[in-house]
Amino acid sequence: MNVPFIDLKRYEPGFHKALMEKFHLMSLDAQFIGGREVSDLEQRLSSLLMVEHAVACANGTDALQLALRAAGVGIGDAVLVPNVTFWATFEAVVNVGADPVTIDADLSDGGVSFEAFEQAIRKLQPKAALVAHLYGWGSARLLDLRALCRKHGVVLVEDGAQSFGARYQGAPICKGAHISTTSFYPAKVLGGAGDGGAVFTDDTELAEKLRRLGNHGRTAHYGYGDVGWNSRLDSLQAAFLNLSLDHIDARIASRREAVAYYQKHLPSTGIQMMSAPDGYEENGYCNVCLVPDPTRKAAMETCLKTEGIGFGNIYPSVMSKQPGAVAYLKGHFGGQAGDQLCASVLNLPLFPYMTEAELRRVVDVVSACKEVAHVR
Ligand SMILES: *Cc1c(COP(=O)(O)O)cnc(C)c1O
Repeated sequence: MNVPFIDLKRYEPGFHKALMEKFHLMSLDAQFIGGREVSDLEQRLSSLLMVEHAVACANGTDALQLALRAAGVGIGDAVLVPNVTFWATFEAVVNVGADPVTIDADLSDGGVSFEAFEQAIRKLQPKAALVAHLYGWGSARLLDLRALCRKHGVVLVEDGAQSFGARYQGAPICKGAHISTTSFYPAKVLGGAGDGGAVFTDDTELAEKLRRLGNHGRTAHYGYGDVGWNSRLDSLQAAFLNLSLDHIDARIASRREAVAYYQKHLPSTGIQMMSAPDGYEENGYCNVCLVPDPTRKAAMETCLKTEGIGFGNIYPSVMSKQPGAVAYLKGHFGGQAGDQLCASVLNLPLFPYMTEAELRRVVDVVSACKEVAHVR
């Protein structure tokens, strides 16, 4: 039996019918921009995530750019960026005209090294800092990072593209964040039928600015108080997301069950699995195994491929070593733990409604491959 790395086609019974009905009515009504679906989605997100304001936008990268622009980050401002993250986190800083400075990773949780982050804040006094809650949880020192930024007047933007539904100390991870963002890219935990994103904040003035920037800086239909761009979320997209939200608890529960299965059975194969730090309830975004020996990792990957088991590597390289970063990078704090993390990560299949037979098959193959990888 083959097991894909991800399968997005396992919709709940009735999902498609409800979707077609909604699209049919909305199309008849030419309801394509704004309207009820978008405002409903924003309201549902803000109450679910325990934040005052949710502002929908076109994608998760725009969400970061809107957050930085709304916070007044621009040309010549230093902004701290995790060295291990998706490229969009780095891009967002450059696209608002600011100067990215990378921060090394912490191997224990995949977040930024607190020591390197603190050193950069003291030395550079940056305008802003980004952290990314990778793999479905956040940093073990999330509250310390927030407090440090607050103390030094640094705007902290939390990239939550992978942490929708993750909880920390009994509340959604966004709660208490100054500004956080998410992405509705189809493979994310709350995935859309295309691109989408959102920004979250408790600050009313900031929320108004976010909303304005994402709609051409508009203050009236033909009145512009700012130069923004078009980063609106389509109404049909919002409708798809509203229907998906009806099932989000079940989807996250299913992801968490898969995580629990791996946690129970992978250790006996001898493979090391990374998990959320204390205080977190992860959303089950992805499975993160660590295979530090490159030869054994390559052998394991070849073996998984032969056996028809999908796998990934989120992410294979640090930001500072991407060819596209060279022209913009303004510094790096900390060591090279990020390189080690990137080289070690092996992601096994994880998506909602995986069957127990699939999970068992993955564990069996990993177990068998482990022998092969070991022998080589
Ligand atoms: C997916 C992702 C993004 C970008 O989201 P898009 O909607 O694809 O623009 C940003 N940061 C992280 C950490 C991501 O995983």
